[in-house]
Amino acid sequence: MKEQTLAIHAGYTKDAQGTMAVPIYQTTAYEFRDTQHAANLFELKELGNIYTRLMNPTTDVFEKRFTALEHGAGGVGTASGMSAIFYAIANVAESGDNIIVAKQVYGGTTTLTGHTIKRFGIETRYFDVNHPSEIETLIDEKTKIILFESITNPSIDVADFDAIVAIANKHHIISCVDNTVATPIFCKPLTLGCDVVVHSASKYTTGQGLAIGGIVVERKGLVEKIKNNPRYAHFNEPDESYHGLIYSDLPLPLFTLRIRLALLRDLGAAPSPFNSWLYIQGLETLPLRMKQHASSALTIAQYLENHPKVKKVNYPGLESSPHYALAQKYFPKGQSGLLSFEVETLEEARAIADGTEIFKVVVNIGDSKSIITHPASTTHQQLSNQELIEAGIPAGLIRLSVGLEDTEDLIADLEKALS
Ligand SMILES: *Cc1c(COP(=O)(O)O)cnc(C)c1O
Repeated sequence: MKEQTLAIHAGYTKDAQGTMAVPIYQTTAYEFRDTQHAANLFELKELGNIYTRLMNPTTDVFEKRFTALEHGAGGVGTASGMSAIFYAIANVAESGDNIIVAKQVYGGTTTLTGHTIKRFGIETRYFDVNHPSEIETLIDEKTKIILFESITNPSIDVADFDAIVAIANKHHIISCVDNTVATPIFCKPLTLGCDVVVHSASKYTTGQGLAIGGIVVERKGLVEKIKNNPRYAHFNEPDESYHGLIYSDLPLPLFTLRIRLALLRDLGAAPSPFNSWLYIQGLETLPLRMKQHASSALTIAQYLENHPKVKKVNYPGLESSPHYALAQKYFPKGQSGLLSFEVETLEEARAIADGTEIFKVVVNIGDSKSIITHPASTTHQQLSNQELIEAGIPAGLIRLSVGLEDTEDLIADLEKALS
């Protein structure tokens, strides 16, 4: 089936009521047929519902539908994008291990990897996503995962998948991509050889800024990389917390299964059924919406590039972008709705952000409603001028998340603010 059809139908088989819309199974727990049934479920002899911290029929539709769009083998929903990223890391790394992460990642990922997991004894080694060969110098036998973003937020760089995947595969290390900005509509990292995809569902998936959530999806055949691989000994040894279960012996997608059985069980960042239902609504229109986000962003990027007050525009769909060639290679159908541009001074940038009416000053992306942010006075406000330059965030930089309003209205709004 084609993408738009999967977005509307994948993962849902009608129940006895024949309900056209996916029902919200708002429940904490499920009745077992008898104690034998319960025992079979706990022992994985039979698959079925136990408790909503582990699984839920509404969340199941969301997971299956998203997994179908990513061409994956299995997925597990989480309470936020950050918990999806944390679980992907915690699923493979323990105290004494290290992980390799791109410098250009979402702010929450920077603090998670640079501070929070450091306190758990996990070291993070950073590489420049524009120089993937740096990864090789950082790898040792304790390296457990390589994490990067397909289109980076907020710097809007583009990852060279082939280069990163080649290094990860050479060393038998799991590669993990945060595909939040590109979405599975423009990029399917699992078909490019990546092992695991993580997402914040809070952005383009809900599409209207309605709920916080996330998902982890794994590729088909990941077991072959993990089986008997000394880096991932705990997937190949009996799990004492699960009656000696050996994950790499199971005929199931093992990476996401372990997140469900061990990490959701013990750490519990499970999505609410109502939020999963919102993501299902979002997914139905995701392919249609992403086309509009991307075409509107490109038109606005071209408009800004020709504006005399604008020094520079960062959008990988522009021919002038240093990322144009990679973007054409990996996202030929569109480069999503995020762009940034630079004006001369901090004061000018603030006046522009304050001068728009349709573009709202908000720290979010991927909403149907257009958003403008001035990183130097919000997300990166604590940095000095020199630190801003080093972080690649000039004082006059403005970021836009282009929404679904009429493109001409959005340009008129920017024109007025820039005048
Ligand atoms: C927003 C975002 C996250 C974090 O997701 P939450 O759902 O807010 O926890 C992670 N990665 C990227 C690229 C994001 O944009």
